[in-house]
Amino acid sequence: MEKVIILRYAEIYLKGKNRGFFENALETNVRRALKGFAYELAKQNGRYLVSKFEEAYGEDIIEKLKKVFGIHTLSIAYETDSDMDSIFEAAKIVCREEGAFKVESHRGDKKYPLTSIEISRELGGRLLACFHKLTVDVHNPSFTVRVDIRENGVALVFGDFIDGPDGMPVGTAGKGLLLLSGGIDSPVAGHMMAKRGMNIDSLHFHSYPYTNMQAKEKVVELARILSEYTYGKNLYTVSVTHIQEAIHEKCRPELMITLLRRFMYRIAERLAKRIKSQCIITGESLGQVASQTIEGMTSSNSVVETLPVLRPLVGFDKNEIIDRSIKMGAYETSILPFEDCCTVFLPDFPAIRPQMQTILKEEAKLDVEGLMREAFESLEKIEL
Ligand code: ATP
Ligand code: MG
Repeated sequence: MEKVIILRYAEIYLKGKNRGFFENALETNVRRALKGFAYELAKQNGRYLVSKFEEAYGEDIIEKLKKVFGIHTLSIAYETDSDMDSIFEAAKIVCREEGAFKVESHRGDKKYPLTSIEISRELGGRLLACFHKLTVDVHNPSFTVRVDIRENGVALVFGDFIDGPDGMPVGTAGKGLLLLSGGIDSPVAGHMMAKRGMNIDSLHFHSYPYTNMQAKEKVVELARILSEYTYGKNLYTVSVTHIQEAIHEKCRPELMITLLRRFMYRIAERLAKRIKSQCIITGESLGQVASQTIEGMTSSNSVVETLPVLRPLVGFDKNEIIDRSIKMGAYETSILPFEDCCTVFLPDFPAIRPQMQTILKEEAKLDVEGLMREAFESLEKIEL
């Protein structure tokens, strides 16, 4: 008897002719996630089997696989000979000692001497005789013992399904550049696009020395948490201190954030094109703060020339975003106190519905190209 992990995939199953492309990507990502462990990976119609790992690392392997997009469910299973005695021995490990249960059997080997109903009945009977506090409830069981008879004389015995992250394998939907702040929203936005198969690099703007080094370390940590899902290994940082100082000196204070945002988007698009990212991703959610009104989005969006700007959180409430942040494991880091560049020179009353005419008039007071050039001089790349 050997402990193995069954890995079933999600939406890939619906793919037609190009299913192989998605399967290969999933396999690559599983291998990436399990780097450092000894194991074997085998494809079996519609699922994968991880075997030959050290039993002590079973839980660690499951934790890694829970972050591989494209996996629908996982099960820890026992692979045994397919005779009833061996199946029973494995089922005793999988089975709980009390509660209402049922046995579900599936016969891949149609020549097996028992039908699936007979297997379930026989195994159920043996388990009931073994554990006296068990009862059978086929309609509403509190747990299920599952048996899968394979064609090569082996059976897989397992219990309930463990949820995978679903989605599509990262690497199957191009590459995006995430505008990553130190807040709650942007890591979640990156996580959501990665779930659809996008590989992600991040870009962070800082206002050093107005913002401190801890703020930077926090963003590095958030990028690292995200990279456990995305394999994107680059975090870019750019200083916008000089831009904020120029705006502060020359423009109307209530437009500080509006004008700064336009610079952020310009820099993002220019960098994205350089590193062959195909879109810009932000954590904006409609109406959440003053700069995230539709007028604010129009203002920042209008400086982007060709790339799409994806805002996966646009229709989400803060509570929904927080739930996702907790689930992806970023929340505890996101809520650490930190100074964002946007809080430097923050006006008392930011413009909520900035008018395009006013924005352009104020922006005309700045040397946009010169400030852009200076920003790129501060560009740093951190490999995670
Ligand atoms: P977050 O929780 O992601 O910080 P937020 O609710 O604080 O978002 P804003 O500060 O208005 O919202 O920022 C909106 C989006 O702009 C962010 O989600 C992020 O994508 C981008 N952004 C804001 N500040 C920065 C920054 N310092 N560096 C990179 N991107 C930023
Ligand atoms: Mg923020």
